[in-house]
Amino acid sequence: MINSMVLNKEISNWIEEYPLLKNIIALEESLWINPKYSKFNVGMENISLSMTDVKDAEERLNRFAPYIAKVFPETQIDNGIIESPIVRIDNMKVELEKICNENLPGNLLLKCDSHLKVSGSIKARGGFYEVLKHAEDLALEHNILNINEDYKKLDSDEIRQFFSKYSVVVGSTGNLGLSIGIMSAKLGFKVTVHMSADARQWKKDLLRSKGVEVIEYESDYSKAVEEGRKQSKADSNSYFVDDENSKNLFLGYSVAASRLDKQLKSMSIKVDDNNPLFVYLPCGVGGGPGGIAFGLKLLYKDNVHFFFAEPTHSPCMLIGSMTGEHDKVSVQDFGIDNITAADGLAVGRASGFVGKTLEKLMSGCYSVEDENMYKLLTKMADSEKIFLEPSALAGIPGIVKILTSKEGKEYLKINNLEDKLKNITHIAWATGGSMVPENIMDEYYNKGLSLLK
Ligand SMILES: *Cc1c(COP(=O)(O)O)cnc(C)c1O
Repeated sequence: MINSMVLNKEISNWIEEYPLLKNIIALEESLWINPKYSKFNVGMENISLSMTDVKDAEERLNRFAPYIAKVFPETQIDNGIIESPIVRIDNMKVELEKICNENLPGNLLLKCDSHLKVSGSIKARGGFYEVLKHAEDLALEHNILNINEDYKKLDSDEIRQFFSKYSVVVGSTGNLGLSIGIMSAKLGFKVTVHMSADARQWKKDLLRSKGVEVIEYESDYSKAVEEGRKQSKADSNSYFVDDENSKNLFLGYSVAASRLDKQLKSMSIKVDDNNPLFVYLPCGVGGGPGGIAFGLKLLYKDNVHFFFAEPTHSPCMLIGSMTGEHDKVSVQDFGIDNITAADGLAVGRASGFVGKTLEKLMSGCYSVEDENMYKLLTKMADSEKIFLEPSALAGIPGIVKILTSKEGKEYLKINNLEDKLKNITHIAWATGGSMVPENIMDEYYNKGLSLLK
């Protein structure tokens, strides 16, 4: 039975205060515009992280690039910098116009983190970064590395032997486990991944094949994280990657911004007062989309507007941000089951750290039905020949929601953007998919196909 009280308040009273909650509880697709959205300078007050931290993270990844190029040969052509392509998806835009039966002005681009090398998802950003930072900290502390050396030297039996005395632990719905597991195992760490019930079998199999210990749970993400945290605490040589609170993960993600800026410039796409940027990011616990959005805000300030996209069954950031209670409330508190085919987004309680950091910087959140993610998956495959996992499609309807809904239009009006619609660049962040085995991708595709009939 659903508890009718949440934080000592009746759900009916919550709904009175936040009427949209009624639609959210009814699992309807919802768009929430953040009433606290502020000018950049105001939004940044009381935030301890700055561009200096982002640059520090970027430099660290640069230091590791020669090592990455050596141990993951597929990254050699990018000199060990793991970055994803960005592409125009004009055909998909036409498909969206057909679906909503309206003209959609502006550019639509897809940022293909689905095709990040080595681990095939957005987690290759934060996950790799956090493991590398931990390895660097240990190696510097024990004087087996200095910061001006060529980090290729980390690829040695002696150093793997050293790291094998230490363990790395993480809780995950799948993709974070993949990224943390792959990078930790490569460096020589002992690594344990606590997987929630949502995690797909092939992700567990892949990790086990790399010598990673995978512990499975029948409950959701929050439980997997809690157990991981507990296990790690008991061992002083163990390092817990805290997806719910980690500043390192967040900073690893934030490096995406300066790299995206270079890509946009090379495509002659401007971001300025007259050419705003709208970004739609699929959100689970919030670290990935949050870090990227934060990096973009530091760079483009009031000219970038970002929205988080979640499944209708897991709208944790939406509820946490709207109520201002962040990690004090879960979707389950409101009777929502957190069961979704978008496994990367199957999180019932958002990161409090991310929610609070972005409290005045985030433009809003919206939710998408699982069936629509499947349909878009199939449309994306047919129209653009790009194959994504269901989670990665959540960003796609963002452009439609902003340009065609009452709430979206109101947002454009308040921000004086109504006469700039043609100049807006919309980026949907595609967060995963290239590592999905073919037979499973076929299942996804066929599911979407049958729903479209
Ligand atoms: C993890 C993940 C996300 C969201 O990242 P969070 O940091 O959990 O918010 C989005 N898409 C995919 C495919 C993911 O694996």
